[in-house]
Amino acid sequence: MTRTAADILQQLHADDVRFLRLQFSDILGSVKNIEVPASQFEKALSGDVMFDGSAVQGFTRIEESDMLLRPDLSTFLVLPPFSAAEGERGRVARLICDVYLPDGTPFEGDPRFVLRRQVERAARMGFEFYCGPEPEFFLFERAANGDSTTVTHDKAGYFDLAPIDRGERIRREITNKLVEMGFEIEAAHHEVAPGQHEIDFRYADALKTADNIATFKFAVKRVALEYGLLASFLPKPVAGINGSGMHCHLSLFRNGQNAFYDERAEYGLSLTALHFIGGLLEHAPGLVAVTNPLVNSYKRLVPGFEAPINVAWSTSNRSAMIRVPAKRGNSTRAEFRLPDPSCNPYLALAVMLAAGLDGIEEKMEPPPAIQRNIYKMTVREKRHHRIRELPANLSEALEALERDEVMRETLGEHVLSNFVQAKRAEWVAYSAAVHQWELDQYLDLV
Ligand code: GLN
Ligand code: MG
Ligand code: MG
Ligand code: MG
Repeated sequence: MTRTAADILQQLHADDVRFLRLQFSDILGSVKNIEVPASQFEKALSGDVMFDGSAVQGFTRIEESDMLLRPDLSTFLVLPPFSAAEGERGRVARLICDVYLPDGTPFEGDPRFVLRRQVERAARMGFEFYCGPEPEFFLFERAANGDSTTVTHDKAGYFDLAPIDRGERIRREITNKLVEMGFEIEAAHHEVAPGQHEIDFRYADALKTADNIATFKFAVKRVALEYGLLASFLPKPVAGINGSGMHCHLSLFRNGQNAFYDERAEYGLSLTALHFIGGLLEHAPGLVAVTNPLVNSYKRLVPGFEAPINVAWSTSNRSAMIRVPAKRGNSTRAEFRLPDPSCNPYLALAVMLAAGLDGIEEKMEPPPAIQRNIYKMTVREKRHHRIRELPANLSEALEALERDEVMRETLGEHVLSNFVQAKRAEWVAYSAAVHQWELDQYLDLV
């Protein structure tokens, strides 16, 4: 249903909404918003709210900083109150916006625009792209003074039930809030590690999914705060136990039919599916800096914790980077297990889609599927199966990104250069720091 500015305005008044949040995302994926009071609702809805882009990381130089927020009316949502006090202060609504320059052209540094470009490219090729993400996160205790800790709030494991799983109550509360916010929740469960959880919501088109991921993270953190806990999407907060991934179930549709399914072909997978997988494998080293953008992301990508370490695909085993789940027909999809939830969802979806579409355009055949546990393979066995390594850290990943022409083009010069610059600075700061591990390892020894 497409909504008009007029009926949104009417609902804002009918629901007695006091504030409207105009939301957008910076290049690194932080959600930003400008809040306007009721007197400005009409102006906001017609896309006339200006802001200073130079204050947003990686957005623009100070000389050309005026930007406009044009709301995507389909994203209108009256937010539920997250606390009793919030309920008394009057309601708040939000609209997710596209960023425009004063001359009416889209701003090329807007991550949502980067994703739109790929969605339009898919449409020109006759495809609709869908993604069902599985974001994982940890719930940690807060210290008495409110500081964050990495002390988990329970000792439960995969699919455990309450009362071991103290997270059950808060997970239900998160689920309730998400449902109030229009999410269709498919499953919520305790994950493998103590304090780790997963809540899955229904797949949708790329733009909606990216918006959903941003909203999801906000809601999870907000509810956790109400319970005095910290919700963190850091990929590897505690060494030695599972990290948090954000598996993405990807599929293409053509004329309402799943384009990955071919009942006569091997595995029931169409050539389109194989080429898409071929493209993801080809560009994985180049795109991982975007889907796994933190120094810490690469500490999740180590053997033994159900996270991928090699460029390979499989129809069964979970050590591969891409797994094709057993469901066929319209549910045929590729589960891309590489991304983690610290990524900018708009850019991450854009690079995944671009890689797959490039595979289709260039008819990239993936190597044979690997059904064995890759963690247990020797280096020779991996070489024999033509299994490549993923970049080992953020620095290598950035180098691979800069070498990958298709990924460069996907992000565009503005996003690419600002992203790489910010991430290099992060790497340099990390490399210059002295870590506890080094002291434990060497201090007494040398
Ligand atoms: N936490 C794992 C990862 O890092 C996934 C575990 C699972 O979903 N079974 O990707
Ligand atoms: Mg899952
Ligand atoms: Mg999981
Ligand atoms: Mg999964």
